[in-house]
Amino acid sequence: MNNRTASRVLAAATTALLTLGGAAACSTDGPAGADPQRVDVVAAFYPLQFIAERIGGDAVRVTNLVKPGAEPHDLELNPSQVGEVSEAELIVYLKGFQPAVDEAIEQNATDRAFDVATVQPLRDATAGAHEHEGEGAGATEEPGHEEESGGKDPHLWLDPTRLATVADQLAERLGKVDPDRAADFTSRARALHADLEKLDGEYATGLTTCQRREIVTSHTAFGYLAERYRLEQVGITGLSPDVEPSPQRLAEVIEEAREHKATTIFFETLVSPKVAETIAGQVGAQTAVLDPIEGLADGSGSDYLSVMRTNLQTLRTALGCS
Ligand SMILES: [Zn+2]
Ligand SMILES: [Zn+2]
Repeated sequence: MNNRTASRVLAAATTALLTLGGAAACSTDGPAGADPQRVDVVAAFYPLQFIAERIGGDAVRVTNLVKPGAEPHDLELNPSQVGEVSEAELIVYLKGFQPAVDEAIEQNATDRAFDVATVQPLRDATAGAHEHEGEGAGATEEPGHEEESGGKDPHLWLDPTRLATVADQLAERLGKVDPDRAADFTSRARALHADLEKLDGEYATGLTTCQRREIVTSHTAFGYLAERYRLEQVGITGLSPDVEPSPQRLAEVIEEAREHKATTIFFETLVSPKVAETIAGQVGAQTAVLDPIEGLADGSGSDYLSVMRTNLQTLRTALGCS
């Protein structure tokens, strides 16, 4: 029994004492089909898969609960995925973002879950909402996700410095799951941290001098990015992409886009561009993809860093940055 197995059994036994009576905990070495050489990690959506793979390297086997090309908000879990959650050695998730994942963890895996929302306080859903002097906040009230997430904005991965902080903490947590490889996790996290800081520098430089700073986005996913790089986000829908905007909201966004002379209305890879196209048609703007990196398209050869760099080029073009 190696350290990892020992600590896992210890964790399991602790739970078992409270729930099952403890007898079965030592009889297995992990779930059927699990690789005893590697830590079985379940990631709740793509950016968490990305950091888990970068930090874990060949010492982990990472499963993403969201299929390629699917959109992770309000993910439903099938029974075999609930099984994956309950058998994983570590689940990396963001509490409040995917209620089905929260529930599966609550029932089966609280002792093996790492909630990335606990690393740094999340932004309030309404923080930095685009407003003009003398206007109420009524226009920014959106139905849907806010209650589930306690009024917090989950999209923290779109600020690379926040993702770097999360990655450092994840390396520490992985080191507790597999202490023999803790030093490897730490050094890989350091390399990832450097990559993310480099990306942050490119954004800061690339968005310093621009003709416009307002971005009209499909759903309100870019609050952390806007805050970090001094942009103003006008989200067509709220924090969750599956809520249809009201005709009133559409009219407001069209007015905003005109007022700020937006040349581009952004849409997303995993969500229909129809609404963005309607608005663009009304104001004589183009559409372009600004990817919230909630998942990769099916068959995509990109990763978090390359999509972020594509987003930066898209923003520079749309905002007229020099
Ligand atoms: Zn989102
Ligand atoms: Zn405005």
